[in-house]
Amino acid sequence: MKYFSTRGGDQELSFEETVLTGLAPNGGLYIPVEIPSLPSNWETEWKDYSFVDLSVAILSLYISREEISELELRDLVAKSYAGFRHPYVTPLRKLGEKKYVLELWHGPTWAFKDVALQLLGNLFEFFLKRRNARRMDGGTDKLTVVGATSGDTGSAAIYGLRNKANISIFILHPKGRVSPIQEAQMTTVTDANVHNLAVKGTFDDCQDIVKSLFSDIQFNATHHLGAVNSINWARILAQTVYYFLAYFHLRKEIQSEVQFVVPTGNFGDILAGYYAKRMGLPMSAHLGVATNANDILARFWKTGRYEKVDSSPELPVSDGKQGTQDASGVKETLSPAMDILISSNFERLLWYLAFETVEDASDVNVRRAKAGDIVDGWMLKMKKDGKVEVPVTVLEFARRDFCAERVSDEQTLETIKSQFLGSPSYVVDPHTAVGLTAAARMANYNSLSTVQIILSTAHPAKFSEAVSQALQGSSQFDFNRDVMPEEFKGLLQKDRRVIDVERPDVELVKKVIEGYV
Ligand SMILES: *Cc1c(COP(=O)(O)O)cnc(C)c1O
Repeated sequence: MKYFSTRGGDQELSFEETVLTGLAPNGGLYIPVEIPSLPSNWETEWKDYSFVDLSVAILSLYISREEISELELRDLVAKSYAGFRHPYVTPLRKLGEKKYVLELWHGPTWAFKDVALQLLGNLFEFFLKRRNARRMDGGTDKLTVVGATSGDTGSAAIYGLRNKANISIFILHPKGRVSPIQEAQMTTVTDANVHNLAVKGTFDDCQDIVKSLFSDIQFNATHHLGAVNSINWARILAQTVYYFLAYFHLRKEIQSEVQFVVPTGNFGDILAGYYAKRMGLPMSAHLGVATNANDILARFWKTGRYEKVDSSPELPVSDGKQGTQDASGVKETLSPAMDILISSNFERLLWYLAFETVEDASDVNVRRAKAGDIVDGWMLKMKKDGKVEVPVTVLEFARRDFCAERVSDEQTLETIKSQFLGSPSYVVDPHTAVGLTAAARMANYNSLSTVQIILSTAHPAKFSEAVSQALQGSSQFDFNRDVMPEEFKGLLQKDRRVIDVERPDVELVKKVIEGYV
C-alpha cells in the first residue's frame, strides 16, 4: 500500500515514510491510494478476535507485508496494548436499551489518545531500529519529537515514547496553565529521553515555538524532528480497530443498526470510523459528529461553509450560552480537548468528497489528480480568507455519511448530572457528555431499532472541575470515592522532572533541546 498527499502531486510514499513524515511537503495530509475492502469472510472469521487480533487483521490491509511482516506487526501491536487495564482494551458498556458507550480510556494516561500513541511510539522505534541495523557507516538515525500541549496530547505522547531507543521527546506546556492532574501525568515521567518544558506563556506561545522549530530547515535537518500530532496517518489507522471491536461486541448482544457518535475536535477519531465504514463495516445510520461551542464542523454540515468565524448569525442558537472566546477565536469550554478553530483531519474527508464529486470521472488517476487540485484550492482559500464554501453536490455527499450537532457547556453539565442520576448511574467526562447530548438529539432521526454507540474519550477523573461542577449538588456524590482512580491518588506526590523556560523564546527552547540530544 502506498500513500499520497491530499493536495496532489506525484509523490507516493511507503507506510514507513508516511508515518515518519507526518505532513506532506505541499501542506497536504497523506491518505492511502485506495481504501481496502474487507475480506469476504471477515464477519465470521473476525467475530471472536481480540483487540490485538483485529488490529493485525485491519492494519495488514494498509501495510505491505514487505514493509512489516505479520509476525512483526503482531509483536508491535501486542506490545502497544499490553499495558491497557481492561482485557478488551476498549470495552463497550451498556447505558440503556439503545445506548452504549465505548470506553477508550483504559490506557496509561486515561484518555483515548493512548490507543493511537502507544502504537505510534512502537512504530517509530521499530523503523529507527531497522534503519540503524541497515546503516553501513556506523552512524545512528535518531528522532527528536517536539510538540506543544494544553493537556491531553502531551501526556499520551510522553507515555507512548518514554524509554524508546534513539528517540527523545520534548513537550512544551504553558507553565501553570494545564490542569494539576495533567501536569502531574506529564512531569512525573522521569525517563531520560522525556523532557517537559514549562514555558512562561500561553499555549499559543508554545505552539508558535514548535512551528518555528519545524520550519527552521537547519535545526530540523540536524535533529530530525518528528511530530506526533493527530494528522499522523498511523494514529487514524490505529483508531479504526475499535469500531470493529465495538461492532462485534454489540452483535453478540443484539442484531440491529448501529450509529457511532463521536466527540470531535480535530476530526481524527471520527475519520477512523469513516474509513471503517468505507472498508465495509455496516453502518447505515449516519456517523455522528458532536462538537462543543467550537462548532466549525457542525456549521459545515448545516451550511456547506467551512469557516473559522460564523458568518451567518441568523442561524438559530438553540443551545444556550456559549463559551468565552480567546484572541485567536477559540472558545474556552468545559471540554478543552475539543477547543479548536479548524479541524486538521477534515482535509482528508474533503479529499474523498472532492474525489466522489469530480466531474468527468472516467479515469481514476485523472480524478485523483483533480481531487488534489480541488482540495489544494479549498485549503488555499481557507488560509487566505478563513472560509471556503463547497458546492452543494459536495455537501450532499457529506450528508450521506455524517450528521452533526453542537453542544453547549450548560447541556454538557446537565448530561453529566442526568447520567449520574440515571440508571445505571455512570459518571462521564465532559467530552463524553458532549457525545451523549448530541446522540440524544440524533436519535430522533434514526430508525427505531438503531442502537447508538457513543465514544467515551476520557476518564472523568481527568476533568475534575467540570465533573464536580455538574455534580456538586448531588448529596450522594463524592469525587474521591466515586471517580478518582487509585492510580491518580499517588500521582501528585511523585517525583517530577521539568525544565523551566523563562520566556516564550524559540532560541531558549533550541538551547534546551541541543543541551540534551
Ligand atoms: C483529542 C480528544 C478529542 C477529540 O478527538 P479528535 O480526534 O481530535 O476529533 C475528544 N476527547 C478527548 C478527551 C480528547 O483528548
